[in-house]
Amino acid sequence: MAVQRENVIIIGSGPAGLTAALYTARANLNPLVIAGDQIGGQVSITSEVENYPGFPEGLLGPDLVQKFQTQAERFGTRIEYDLVTEVDFSSGPPFTVKTASKTYEAWSVIITAGASPRRLGVPGEEEYIGRGVSYCGTCDGFFFRGKKVVVVGGGDSALEEGIFLTKFVTEAQVLHRRDELRASAILQKRARNNPKISFTWDTVVEEIGGGDTVQYVKVRNVKTGAQDTVKTDGVFIFIGHYPNTGFLGGQLRMDDHGYLITDDHMMTSVPGVFAAGEIQDPVWRQVATSVGQGTMAAMACTRWLEAHEEEFDLTEAAPAG
Ligand code: NAP
Repeated sequence: MAVQRENVIIIGSGPAGLTAALYTARANLNPLVIAGDQIGGQVSITSEVENYPGFPEGLLGPDLVQKFQTQAERFGTRIEYDLVTEVDFSSGPPFTVKTASKTYEAWSVIITAGASPRRLGVPGEEEYIGRGVSYCGTCDGFFFRGKKVVVVGGGDSALEEGIFLTKFVTEAQVLHRRDELRASAILQKRARNNPKISFTWDTVVEEIGGGDTVQYVKVRNVKTGAQDTVKTDGVFIFIGHYPNTGFLGGQLRMDDHGYLITDDHMMTSVPGVFAAGEIQDPVWRQVATSVGQGTMAAMACTRWLEAHEEEFDLTEAAPAG
């Protein structure tokens, strides 16, 4: 299999990745983004983005992704819709990056592969994915028109998605394991004022069941131990995320929760390999912060490549147009 040589490969295409692409493209580094199977990461499945500066009226997640992509491509970013399956950082640079169909070598790599929704890990959850269990209200809400759903979680995602779901459902019952929400005050206020949303406190889901599709969840009150069965047509689970580091094979330093550790210049434990966005940020997780981190990673990567210009045989960007 022929090996394709690149100056910089960006793994992932969310706000961090597309911003890193914009900056490295404008630095004439001719970046290649390996986008995953869907461009935009989690923002592409977000309904309304209201807190990204510059868009005072808010805009839809997919529209924001489209703008990021257009701007990155305007300066020559190339995008491959493929999944990275394996990397080898042990002997680089150049580093090896593999997808199912191609092997690349890159003088530098920026990892922006993001995070995925955490699962509850209860009986019935896997079985009913796509048949009532969902991790994305924006994607699946429409299928629950006129139905009742439960929403698991007490953070911003649970409330934001729960509010969105009320466009379709007759009732969204939020099941939270404590009696206090983690979500921001503004979302709490909106959710509490929404007549279709109800809250059940101190409650965990122990089982999801039904026939062809979900019909009920079995729950337990963590304070009293009382068990109950709640009838529902859908279970929307928003209990946080885990970083998508599986393809890295443990080659980079991570914290106790599996997030990549980066220094002040967004460099990972391997010089020349940078990371930005949710794969290294368990705390802020905003489009705006991912954009900032993508900018930092790209600028640091550019400086690092410039410092090694003599050793690396960097390719020229193809002429525009
Ligand atoms: P999160 O803030 O980590 O909240 C997760 C929620 O799920 C918490 O309420 C947690 O309960 C609960 N939970 C965790 N594990 C559970 C389990 N095994 N069983 C039952 N419940 C469980 O995650 P998130 O809501 O996805 O938000 C992540 C980040 O993105 C946050 O920084 C948030 O501010 C940000 N975000 C912002 C917006 C916005 O600004 N509009 C929208 C979405 C997300 P406890 O509270 O008891 O821990």
